[in-house]
Amino acid sequence: MTSVTAFVEGWDFVQTLGEGAYGEVKLAVNADTQEAVAVKIINLEKNPAAAEAVRKEVCVHKLLGHETIIKFYGFRKDGKIQYLFLEYASGGELFDRIEPDVGMQQQDANRYFKQLITGVEYLHTKGVTHRDLKPENLLLDDFDNLKISDFGLATVFRYQGNTRQLEKCCGTVPYVAPEVLSRKPYDAEPADIWSCAVILVALLAGELPWDEPTYGCREYCDWKDCKITQTPWNKIDNLALSLLRRLLVENGSKRYTINQIKEHQWFKKNFNRPALGQLNWLPSSPTNSPSSTGPFKRMCSENELSPTSHPRESFMPISSSQPESRHRLGSDGDTNSSMEPISRQFCFSQPVHPDHMLLSSQIQGTPGSSQNPWQKLVRRMTRFFVKPDRDGTKVELEKVFEQLGYNWKFNSPGTVTITTSDRRHIPLVFKACLLEMDENLLLDFRLSKGDGLEFKRHFIKIKNHMKAIVSKVPPTWPLVPSQIS
Ligand code: ATP
Repeated sequence: MTSVTAFVEGWDFVQTLGEGAYGEVKLAVNADTQEAVAVKIINLEKNPAAAEAVRKEVCVHKLLGHETIIKFYGFRKDGKIQYLFLEYASGGELFDRIEPDVGMQQQDANRYFKQLITGVEYLHTKGVTHRDLKPENLLLDDFDNLKISDFGLATVFRYQGNTRQLEKCCGTVPYVAPEVLSRKPYDAEPADIWSCAVILVALLAGELPWDEPTYGCREYCDWKDCKITQTPWNKIDNLALSLLRRLLVENGSKRYTINQIKEHQWFKKNFNRPALGQLNWLPSSPTNSPSSTGPFKRMCSENELSPTSHPRESFMPISSSQPESRHRLGSDGDTNSSMEPISRQFCFSQPVHPDHMLLSSQIQGTPGSSQNPWQKLVRRMTRFFVKPDRDGTKVELEKVFEQLGYNWKFNSPGTVTITTSDRRHIPLVFKACLLEMDENLLLDFRLSKGDGLEFKRHFIKIKNHMKAIVSKVPPTWPLVPSQIS
């Protein structure tokens, strides 16, 4: 169990939820109340450049309060370490619900898209643009409701009734609108709407339509020329396609607005979605169809906050915001407690010190203790139980990694970092953790860097190679009590 500094006493970091450009996001559970929060941890010593970005993220995120937006609970500094306390989204990331090259059921895509548009509409009414909308930044709560997260590139485009155009080129290339790449001023709202449309393609087809919306990209030119007999368009039904035709319009001023989207028949269509309990979250078998999923190169933002402080943006060259190596708390190994047997992680033995409670006044309203701690583990499909013991699994993993041509490094006996590149030769880094769940051993994979869909493709490949040792116990969430009691 990892206990951090004095002011988080009483709160245990029980799991690493994810990694970002500047640090990690961990799940913290209050030992007494079992409230759960996600804590984004940024070490400014290792990432001095992050200071301004974090300041902006905090400034923008704290303006927001809506059911479709991850709640911002508070912010603390402890020397060079900065902590952002956020609503915990136990349902994981939206990309995890997308089956590579297949997508998801249209009714689910419709529901997520509606929630996304509601969230983006809210942001725009607050004068905020997200600028990095993609499935990796869309999280899901206990009830499978979408929550927009990661305001690291967000900015204010309307302030006290004054709207400004943006100039900065930022976002994740396959999701950005053409005008964002144009080096000319652009309007904030249509640019976010374009990203929503690319997300919709990913939801419906399990792949991205192009690497980038430029004339150098064949897939983009084909779309512009109405050549839609190819993948991904041939997997999408006509009504949804007709909406996409209005959204993926090069000229931002001719693109559908949110009000027009809400009037479109596909958007309004009432799909009969089964209740959550009836859904099968397990991915079905992968297909081998080619995909045009491209690099997820993220472009960085510069200092800007409001139209008053920075009336005009300057163009920033595209650069990846994801450093080659990411910081770890304490060491370069995975120091989080997720390597320990989970049964030990939840020994809530520490007394509660109200004086030291983490932001006690700010976390009111966090989910209460209705769930048991096991159920607080983030829901993920990129995991499976294995039959052999730790050593046997390790041997098997190394064999498969060798076959698949990966580079890998065991950070501890239970965590391995895998490094490879995706089909577009973009670096892809992910981690596999071996977690003991009483008698069962869970192999849990999570993305560290790169494209979420590509990561899922690799996960499926690994799982197929490990078929012989995959246990029948389904790794769904919530974990059934018999496995975790
Ligand atoms: P980026 O490199 O995209 O800028 P970042 O440093 O801003 O990353 P986030 O994208 O906010 O970090 O978080 C990284 C990952 O951590 C997410 O993709 C998600 O898996 C997990 N995560 C973040 N916030 C939460 C949350 N509130 N609840 C659950 N998981 C979260």
